[in-house]
Amino acid sequence: MKPVVVISSCIEMESFRYNGGIIRSPAVAAMKEEIHFIPVCPEVGIGLGVPRASIRLVQKKEVDSYSLVSLEEGMDHTDAMNHFSGHFVSDILNQSVDGFILKSGSPSCGPSAVKVYPDNPKSSAIHKKGRGLFADKIIQDFSHLAIEEDDRLRNEKIYDHFLIRIFTHHRFRKVLQSQVMKDLVDFHSNHKYLFMSYNQKLTSELGKITANPGGAEPTEVIREYYTRMLKIFNRTYSHKNMINAMEHMAGYFKKDIDKEEKNLFMEQMEMYRQGKTGLDSLKNMLRQWIARFREPYLSRQVILNPYPPSLAFVSEIFDKTYLRI
Ligand code: SF4
Repeated sequence: MKPVVVISSCIEMESFRYNGGIIRSPAVAAMKEEIHFIPVCPEVGIGLGVPRASIRLVQKKEVDSYSLVSLEEGMDHTDAMNHFSGHFVSDILNQSVDGFILKSGSPSCGPSAVKVYPDNPKSSAIHKKGRGLFADKIIQDFSHLAIEEDDRLRNEKIYDHFLIRIFTHHRFRKVLQSQVMKDLVDFHSNHKYLFMSYNQKLTSELGKITANPGGAEPTEVIREYYTRMLKIFNRTYSHKNMINAMEHMAGYFKKDIDKEEKNLFMEQMEMYRQGKTGLDSLKNMLRQWIARFREPYLSRQVILNPYPPSLAFVSEIFDKTYLRI
């Protein structure tokens, strides 16, 4: 079983762009083996062909919302797109979806920063704060899930955060399906340090929910836990919280490791704190200590492998000059 992600078809899937092109995304290409993608092209879905006339978001004077217009053909596709989006969302509400990857900048799929034009074919864009009509419907109905755009996945931290979210959501499905408290307790125990690296206050609240002092029904406890857990991922993890989680884990070995090993760990931690290195070296040291001293609780901690290792070492996909984040 793999996590399920809905994706704009033109990203690595089909040559469905208006000009018959396809968007290459090294991040998505890397994910193909480990994620089950559901491709969707809303423009093809409303019956537009490939290739086709380009369309744009237009702000009409008399209404607040945007229209989806093909200038060349003089056609307004707004109603057709809203209809398609509504149907698509009702269909996937019944499926197990863990997240979305949508095409940046598209008047249909773009989740943010889409160019908006005035109702005058000769004018240039009035601003870049629009949202594609299909994306708008997805965000309205699935704001609790990870929704990313392909451009942003070129940033290492956002790529990492996105994968952590969808794989954690996917793992939680077992608890949602079983509705058994033991599965919830195991899930929380295994994710404790991962959640700490995001938000310590919410992690402690999740611990209290799991303890279930009032003896509530499992269904109620699991629902409350799920709602609170999703909030943890509203922001990416911070360096400060990540360092705190790593320090806590290293504390398990304070009597076992010698001074040189401890100093080496502290050096790597300082490098990470200063942004000179990633997390891999710290995680590798912890993994080695866990294996050497046979520490069963830490060996189950998801923070060390929050998603398949094949996705963790693809640093060549990141654009170091990508500064928009
Ligand atoms: S951005 Fe969306 S509507 Fe446009 S080609 Fe890609 S999938 Fe189709």
